[in-house]
Amino acid sequence: MEVKKVINLVILWLILFISFASADDATTEANLKIDFQFLRKRMVSQQIQARGIKDKRVLEAMLKVERHRFVPERIQHLAYEDTPLPIGYSQTISQPYIVALMTELLELKGDEKVLEIGTGSGYQAAILAELAKEVYTIEIIPELAQSAERLLKELGYQNIQVRCGDGYLGWPQVAPFEAIIVTCAPEKIPEPLIEQLAEEGRLVIPVGTTYQELKLITKKKGKLQEKSIIPVRFVPMIRR
Ligand code: SAH
Repeated sequence: MEVKKVINLVILWLILFISFASADDATTEANLKIDFQFLRKRMVSQQIQARGIKDKRVLEAMLKVERHRFVPERIQHLAYEDTPLPIGYSQTISQPYIVALMTELLELKGDEKVLEIGTGSGYQAAILAELAKEVYTIEIIPELAQSAERLLKELGYQNIQVRCGDGYLGWPQVAPFEAIIVTCAPEKIPEPLIEQLAEEGRLVIPVGTTYQELKLITKKKGKLQEKSIIPVRFVPMIRR
């Protein structure tokens, strides 16, 4: 079973490499023929529901948001595969299941103010915007912050604010947040994020160096409760 998984992954990365190397004008035309809605439905049932994600609103958001719009055109045909994908600047868009899992852990009902650290492509921000009232997202690489902001605007999202900066510091001007999600990995939980978490708030964050543990932190009566969810691999949190 494990061997099969590794072989599949090697094949996928080979396709990815060839796609990057052979991109040409025919890419756009080829992409037009792909039934992305079918691929999205299959992604949700086979990768997300099958692994135990139950929150109906999360499943609906994952069905709705067009993940292929958030990856480079040359690899749009791979957007619904069970893997993270490169988005430039040595960064990646997370695996769909991880996006769903982290989002479900936030238990969003619709009236929350959410903070995301690590905007990247803007995909996770779009998912959050479907499920909460306001989304504030911080990205440290200016080019990624700009392209995500442009795309989210183009897609019609009016409840997302993108800011370029160091997410370690959070966004004190708009705190507290009922939910905080961190999609890059710090070695330790940044103190400012704990301070900016609202009472009864939930923080989902990968913590560690090469290998990390996905943690859920909840704040109750000023006290923190910490729960380890699963081992994960995220890009490191960059400090300025
Ligand atoms: N959530 C993203 C995936 C993020 S990849 C998506 O849906 O596409 C992690 C991102 O965190 C990268 O874009 C990286 O540049 C960014 N990042 C790393 N350190 C950061 C920091 N200190 N503050 C804000 N963003 C940071």
